[in-house]
Amino acid sequence: MTSTFGNVPHPPFVDRLIPDTHNRAWDDLGQRKPIGVCQHSMLGSLWGTDAYFRRGAASRALTDYGIGGSTDGGQGDGVILRWNDPLGRGTAVDIDGVSHRVSANRAPWANGGSDDLEGDGPAFVRKLGIAAINRDLVSIERSDGGIESTPMSPKQFESICALTAHWFDHARVPWEQFPFNPGAGVTTHMLHYEFASKTCPFAPVTNRIAELQNRIRQILKAGQTLGQPAPATTPAPLAPSPVQPADDWWPQGYAIDALAARFGVLMKKEADGTERPARFDPKGVISNAWVARGVAEQRTVAQLPIALRWWVLHSNEDQRCDLVTFDDRWTLFRPDQHVAWTWIA
Ligand SMILES: [Zn+2]
Repeated sequence: MTSTFGNVPHPPFVDRLIPDTHNRAWDDLGQRKPIGVCQHSMLGSLWGTDAYFRRGAASRALTDYGIGGSTDGGQGDGVILRWNDPLGRGTAVDIDGVSHRVSANRAPWANGGSDDLEGDGPAFVRKLGIAAINRDLVSIERSDGGIESTPMSPKQFESICALTAHWFDHARVPWEQFPFNPGAGVTTHMLHYEFASKTCPFAPVTNRIAELQNRIRQILKAGQTLGQPAPATTPAPLAPSPVQPADDWWPQGYAIDALAARFGVLMKKEADGTERPARFDPKGVISNAWVARGVAEQRTVAQLPIALRWWVLHSNEDQRCDLVTFDDRWTLFRPDQHVAWTWIA
C-alpha cells in the first residue's frame, strides 16, 4: 500500500499571530521547514499564555500553537490558538486598527535551552544540527491551568493528535513509520524534556505517549489511505509504536572513541572564575552539535576542530550567556539558558 499525502487537514484554529512588537523570543534561522512536532505544557492557562506572549521585551518565550484544556472552561477546551506560523510566512496583523509586522521565518525559542539531551534528543541534534530544534519542529503547548498534573481532557487530546497528524503528513511521514521520519532519518515526534533539563510536558502527557502516538497514527492512516480499495482481509489492529532505531546511531566513519580523542578537553570557565574540564559526551548538546556540523561540512574526524574554551559570560540569578570556542573559529553561542545554542561562526 502506498501513502498519499496531503489529505490530513489542519484542524480548525483561532489565528492569534503575535506581532514582532509584542515578542522577540525567536530567531531567524533560515527557512522554516517542519519535519515533526515538539510537545510542551504551559504551566498556565490558554488565554493567560496568549497574554504572556504579548509583553514586548519582557516576553522571553514563544511557541507556534497552544491548545486549551479542561481548566479553560467549555469555551476553551480543545481550542487551538496559533501564535506563530510553522511555515514561516511573513505577514502583518491588525490590532486595534494598527498594522503590526510579523516577520518571516520566526523560529520560536520554544524547544530551546537544549542544555540536556535525552531520549531521542541526542540522535536528533547529531543528525540534523542544533538549529533544527526550533526551526524544523512545530511547537505545540497544551494548557494545564498552571498545574502540571492536570490531565489532558478528551477534547485537548484529540486536538493535539489532529494538529500533530497534520504536520507529520505535511512532512510526508508514512503512518506505518510515525514517529520515525524516514526523510530526516530520526524520530521527530519529540517531547520538550528530550532537549532540556526540564520535565515538560510532565506526567499527564509523558505517561500517555503511546496512546497519543497510536491516535496520531490512526489519523495519518485515515488520510494517507483515503480512496484506496479496502484490503481483502480484515486489517490487523494498529501495532504499538514501531521499533525505533537505537539512539547509538553515529554517522558513517565516526567512532565514539575517535571523536572523544579528537574533541579533547573543553575548559569551562564559570563566571566566578573557577574552571573545570568538560569532555566529549555522546549525549551532550555541544558534542552532538559539533558532530552534526562536521558531517554537514563533510569532514573526517581528523579534520574536526578541537574544543577550546567554554566561557560563561554573564551571570545573575536568572540569566547567563555562554560562548564555546573551537579551533578553526567555530563558535557556539547561547544568549540565555532557556534559548537554543546557535553557531555564530
Ligand atoms: Zn516545554
